[in-house]
Amino acid sequence: MNKNIVKNKSNKELFFIYTYGCQMNEEDSEKLSGMLKNMGYEKTQNKLEASIIIFNTCCVRENAELKVYGNIGALKNIKKENPDLIIAVCGCMMQQKGMADMILKKHPFVDIIFGTHNAYKFPEYLNRVIQDKVQIKEIMDKETKIIEGVPIDRDSDTKAFVTIMYGCNNFCTYCVVPYVRGRERSRKPLDIENEIKDLISKGYKEITLLGQNVNSYGKGLDEEITFADLLRRINEIDGIKRIRFMTSHPKDLSDEVIYAIRDCDKICEQIHLPVQSGSSDILKKMNRHYDREDYLNIIKKVKKEIPGIAISTDIIVGFPGETEKDFEDTLSLIEEVGFDSAYTFIYSRRKYTPADMMEEQITNEEKHARFNNLMKIVNKVAINKNKSYEGSLLEVLVDGPSKNDDTKLCGRTRTGKIVNFVGDTKDIGELVNVKITNALSFSLNGEKI
Ligand code: SAH
Ligand code: SF4
Repeated sequence: MNKNIVKNKSNKELFFIYTYGCQMNEEDSEKLSGMLKNMGYEKTQNKLEASIIIFNTCCVRENAELKVYGNIGALKNIKKENPDLIIAVCGCMMQQKGMADMILKKHPFVDIIFGTHNAYKFPEYLNRVIQDKVQIKEIMDKETKIIEGVPIDRDSDTKAFVTIMYGCNNFCTYCVVPYVRGRERSRKPLDIENEIKDLISKGYKEITLLGQNVNSYGKGLDEEITFADLLRRINEIDGIKRIRFMTSHPKDLSDEVIYAIRDCDKICEQIHLPVQSGSSDILKKMNRHYDREDYLNIIKKVKKEIPGIAISTDIIVGFPGETEKDFEDTLSLIEEVGFDSAYTFIYSRRKYTPADMMEEQITNEEKHARFNNLMKIVNKVAINKNKSYEGSLLEVLVDGPSKNDDTKLCGRTRTGKIVNFVGDTKDIGELVNVKITNALSFSLNGEKI
């Protein structure tokens, strides 16, 4: 039993998890939390009272890695004062060649290192560290078959992420995901349906299906099934209120998926369709397998079939060789599509990816200047979209108190818009109707009806 640790009311030892990166990582952290709770530990939001601290890392961009280095380093003195504190580092960063050794060299006080393919073994590693006082480093190069039945301790009681497929086969030239998450593997539809049915029986209202490219769901399964078929099956689950999914690769968005969104009443009118660039030349260099015209045609079809659909995207600026003209093509595409929101990224060189080896890398100064211009256009377009909601009556799933004003509640529309309004705490977790009074760049204000 650790000394020097504060216990909570139930006298259990506590754990704290740092989660970096995408929704997949959030779901992985919910699994780590589920396993630890099964072992009798309890979660804390205060790392100073934890006896186990886990870093679930991301390596998609350099920034995410820098944060991890800094935060592990900050534990050096805490570990000195409390040598029984157990520090674990896992996730995508650990799958990179040489990274685990580098972390151990820099931070020898780390107790456990594991990768994305063996996270389910965490309880075993933890027991070994506690009993035998050893340091563990175990990374598997290759993905295993999908491990079902890992317990999950979810952050929300209303909304849940459900992973439908792991890995990625696309090898976009800038991206490390295929190297650190392995090849595409789909979960069996029955396992997915059973997980969702269980969530609905516990009162969950919204399910977000996760995968790096959900449109290619089903490949390699014994049962013949496409993503569109899966959507239609999930829509039939009794009691489900809202279905979302991400991410859709534009090259694989079939008409059938568009029709499923149109036809299924539980599927929200929202799609995240990362374009990355508005220039066909850059898209080719990125290995995205669509050009500007293809993307605009998909958008046309989506808008025609699903009126009022909200479209969000991811954009990278400063990809190697991006000319001023290429960048302007990105800006004009944003205006032409009228995105509801965009996650904007400065291109980050990632070791071992083809783009890192390309000549014509853009200077940091240029990347930042373009990024600032990009933000201006994205915000202008987003506020115009939000303005179009003024005066409308919308269904909002209430998440909890508003972040900026605790006299208000906050929730999301079916189109994924954040709405702040005055309501009753008993509305939390419920669907309510809200009239939109005014629009801001990133949210809407409204009155409950
Ligand atoms: N599978 C998803 C995205 C996964 S990564 C998809 O294909 O859309 C999330 C986003 O991070 C990407 O869409 C991309 O915009 C961004 N990204 C990935 N690698 C990057 C890099 N090296 N530099 C900057 N942004 C990057
Ligand atoms: Fe990365 Fe491309 Fe795969 Fe998305 S589709 S995870 S951007 S390689």
